[in-house]
Amino acid sequence: MTVSPHKKAKALKPGSRRPAKELCSECGLCDTYYVHYVKEACAFLNQQIAELETVAHGRSRDLENEDDWYFGVSQEMMAARKQTPIEGAQWTGIVSTIACEMLERGLVEGVVCVQNTAEDRFQPMPVIARTPEEVLAAKVNKPTLSPNLNVLEEIEQSGLKRLLVIGVGCQIQALRAVEQELGLEKLYVLGTPCVDNVSREGLQKFLDTTSRSPETVVHYEFMQDFRIHFKHEDGSIEKVPFFGLKTNELKDVFAPSCMSCFDYVNSLADLVVGYMGAPFGWQWIVVRNDTGKEMLDLVRDQLDTQEVMSKGDRKAAVQQSIPAYDKGVTLPMWAAKMMGVVIERIGPQGLEYARFSIDSHFTRNYLHLKRKYPQKLEQHVPEYAKKIVGQYKLPE
Ligand code: FAD
Ligand code: SF4
Repeated sequence: MTVSPHKKAKALKPGSRRPAKELCSECGLCDTYYVHYVKEACAFLNQQIAELETVAHGRSRDLENEDDWYFGVSQEMMAARKQTPIEGAQWTGIVSTIACEMLERGLVEGVVCVQNTAEDRFQPMPVIARTPEEVLAAKVNKPTLSPNLNVLEEIEQSGLKRLLVIGVGCQIQALRAVEQELGLEKLYVLGTPCVDNVSREGLQKFLDTTSRSPETVVHYEFMQDFRIHFKHEDGSIEKVPFFGLKTNELKDVFAPSCMSCFDYVNSLADLVVGYMGAPFGWQWIVVRNDTGKEMLDLVRDQLDTQEVMSKGDRKAAVQQSIPAYDKGVTLPMWAAKMMGVVIERIGPQGLEYARFSIDSHFTRNYLHLKRKYPQKLEQHVPEYAKKIVGQYKLPE
């Protein structure tokens, strides 16, 4: 009797199941029998964004086009918000609405999304939702590493043929790499941008260090006004300026995978829904291919939209932040607040804010990788990210 490679993989020793070791983002692939594809599929072992872009979108980024370096392959970008927001969603609930529509119209039979456990609102619990109610139970970010792909075996076993997967970049890279093995007729991918994710313990440290009332936080976001907005159980909003973060204490809080990631904008999703390229209060949408357009068309009549805009010049602020972050400088709160106000008035907005955030994170991650894993630098950093980082002077 021949044993399928899937089943053989199940026999791997537990210790050998996460070959990315400390760089593992716990995407979930290694919890399934698809682990035997890990060396090719893992985003941290085999960076292959350009190759996978060509398969998913028909082309990879044009390295002569600055919008492509930053935002990836796209057909269309816009700012949007739901005319009737979903109560309790991360933003206005565009992601949940698209997923519900796809189920209701029979375009898909299941949606991979992330609910939370009964005990802990921030502990992710990936599920395959079969009803709009189950999709809505997954609304709002669980701001921690989530093993979304651990449901992959269930997909094959349950005979699902049409599937929507919602996820962040590292999960989607591994998913695209094994897409052909899943036996699906049609896969739709709805991505969100993602940066600076943390383990559940890391999240606790971040909340304890930064919020006035960590135990009542229900939701938070690093906003386009250069402040973190914490929403508390009583509905109140606490705002903490980025520049007041205790960078020295928080330096090690972000997951090592996220300190080595250059796929902030979820390059391989069909459609991306975030906020960072949109004006304050709006969501940012990037349609990467025809499948993404088909998904967005389902909800266009429920959205207010406007064209993307870009204002300000990020470059000096990024250059100054590089050594400040490197040395773990923390400003006193009064100075941080003042700086927040000034930068909000004259600082980068819209797409320029997104570029500011991408530049700051890519330069930081490039330095981290260069110092800690110099042997990985050449293969792991995509060409578009090398171009972005190359615009700045980095310390040794
Ligand atoms: P909702 O309708 O509330 O739906 C949220 C969806 O997110 C749910 O379907 C759920 O399945 C999924 N989800 C929740 N937690 C996770 C998780 N840990 N991993 C994978 N999927 C999850 N946008 C930016 O522009 N810049 C950022 O830096 C940025 N960072 C993010 C970091 C994380 C960890 C996540 C999950 C998202 C991030 N986003 C970022 C996206 C943004 O915060 C919103 O999720 C997005 O705009 C959708 O809002 P919504 O109201 O439409 O989502
Ligand atoms: Fe496996 Fe995913 Fe971790 Fe890579 S990131 S080692 S594929 S679980």
